[in-house]
Amino acid sequence: MALLISNRGTRMLLQAVTIFFAGVLPLAAQGIPPNPTPVQANPSPLADTAALSREALVWLAQLIQINTTNPPGNEQAAAKYVAAVLEKEGITPEVLEVAPGRGAVVARLRSSAISDPSRALLLVAHMDVVGADRARWTVDPFGAVMKDGYMYGRGALDDKSMLAANLATIIALKRSNARLNRDVIFLATDDEEAGGEASIKTLIARNWDKFAAGFALNEGGEVISKGGKVQYVALQASEKVSVNVAVIAKGPAGHASVPTKDNAVVHLAAAVAKIGAYSAPAHFTTVVRRYFEGLASISDDEIAKWMRSLETTDRGEHAQRVLSEANPQWGSMMRDSIAPTMLSAGVRANVIPGEARAMLNIRLLPGDTIDVLLGALTKLVNDPQVRFEVQPNAGLAAPTSSLESDFYAVINKVASQEFGGAPVLPYQSPWATDSSQLRLHNVQAYGLWPFPVTDEDLKRMHGDDERLSVASFNKGVQVLLHIVSDFAVTK
Ligand SMILES: [Zn+2]
Repeated sequence: MALLISNRGTRMLLQAVTIFFAGVLPLAAQGIPPNPTPVQANPSPLADTAALSREALVWLAQLIQINTTNPPGNEQAAAKYVAAVLEKEGITPEVLEVAPGRGAVVARLRSSAISDPSRALLLVAHMDVVGADRARWTVDPFGAVMKDGYMYGRGALDDKSMLAANLATIIALKRSNARLNRDVIFLATDDEEAGGEASIKTLIARNWDKFAAGFALNEGGEVISKGGKVQYVALQASEKVSVNVAVIAKGPAGHASVPTKDNAVVHLAAAVAKIGAYSAPAHFTTVVRRYFEGLASISDDEIAKWMRSLETTDRGEHAQRVLSEANPQWGSMMRDSIAPTMLSAGVRANVIPGEARAMLNIRLLPGDTIDVLLGALTKLVNDPQVRFEVQPNAGLAAPTSSLESDFYAVINKVASQEFGGAPVLPYQSPWATDSSQLRLHNVQAYGLWPFPVTDEDLKRMHGDDERLSVASFNKGVQVLLHIVSDFAVTK
């Protein structure tokens, strides 16, 4: 990777990148065109998305091969690669060094000499990936291996596919000389997976003026496909808020040969057992209510019946239980969730420790507060030896993006057209994305991986053998370009 982070001119850099990858990866042998002919000067950005997708697939492969496992991230290498691809197209990128070895890339296509940030559209993707346990993969996680029509690799889905599709979109607009009615901004971020010092929070604090926008498209929502047909599109408009809370049990330390009832380990274990069996009361945000309404219309009768009963007085609680058991993600969408994730106590087998700790990862519904939930847990645990301690760096509740904005309407219309009339449902993700930080800055941010995926594909995200089918990737590139063209190009 040394070539990638050298300080030579960008043209030389790109040549070096090409030579480097040509050396390690027989792209053609894997079914990837090694040197696709760039699509030049099309009259419409949508004119030849097939050729564009072939180019984008090469960018995806090469991005997967740049190992950006976070920690440590090392996104600077990917940032230089992305910058080189943009520069080759005559788009001027800026690499923002966020921390040593870590950087973001920003680039802009202008609609006019004076930018209006409130109208601008931001395309966001992150360059870092979570770790991969090589022993559990059937292929090299950083090999960008093509197998059975799939591209395998860490980041094939999350989030390098989106990164490559965003690249394809801005490049298509540039090549076609599209007349824009708003600025289109490309942003490749770092440190999304760990959310640390190099994350979008820092980027916004230091460089907001470089990518301030009124609208954004990011990861976070999904195109759910089954048996080759798109079932529905979940368009993320809001997300839950992550808070870590320590459970701390105290008791007298002593010799293990003389046990007493106030053992901290025993009290902690009892508290964790109660918390594990607890279910916070369900309540429904507008987004979740509309999600279940839409999903009911395409679900089988039995499930649909319960979805329609969620807020009834007589059958509501039963419906909530049935659906939470049928799909744990649905359970998490309707209530604050609590997952015990870490335990620690003791230093020696024959010493009773004076303290025992557990960590809870809590995901609050937007609008809920940790104090109310901890009040309920304190009552539930009902043990003076046990207390709760909220950990620093809790997520911040962000406003929900509007379900009435022009951009929401465009995504809705295009996605439904492109996916054979499949319903587009507003979605509140149980997980957090960079979008919450954008929403806190008045951006109408929506989450959508535009690539049709099956439940089976989704299970591999952050897991083993992450992959994306080439057909899905191509479709996603086309859909993204269609959305952005509809929203930002003057007809
Ligand atoms: Zn991601």
